[in-house]
Amino acid sequence: MEVIQGTHRNSALYHAGDGYFFSVILDSGPLIYLRCVEHRKECLAKAVVNFQGYFVTYNCHNHEPDLLRVAISAERRRILNKAADLQRYATISEIFASHMYVFFHIALILFSCFAKVR
Ligand SMILES: [Zn+2]
Repeated sequence: MEVIQGTHRNSALYHAGDGYFFSVILDSGPLIYLRCVEHRKECLAKAVVNFQGYFVTYNCHNHEPDLLRVAISAERRRILNKAADLQRYATISEIFASHMYVFFHIALILFSCFAKVR
């Protein structure tokens, strides 16, 4: 049994490596109750995980396994993290703050030029 990050922040998807993924319905402490992520498509598969990671599924899935989901989820996470990094470094105030000495130096040169001209 493995847990991957879901599409929402702090969401988790449980799977047993067979291409079927479950989201949490209820976390009671010793037991976590799960249902298939395709429950809106009327899949009735459910699962229970105990604190030792023992994973039991019941009811059959009404759909094919999604064998690419782990890879797609990891790639999605990588892209989102990269986008977050770009956004973090793209703000004008942060660029200004991190390069303030350059702006200060340019201002000093301009000021000295201006002072000489007068
Ligand atoms: Zn299912």
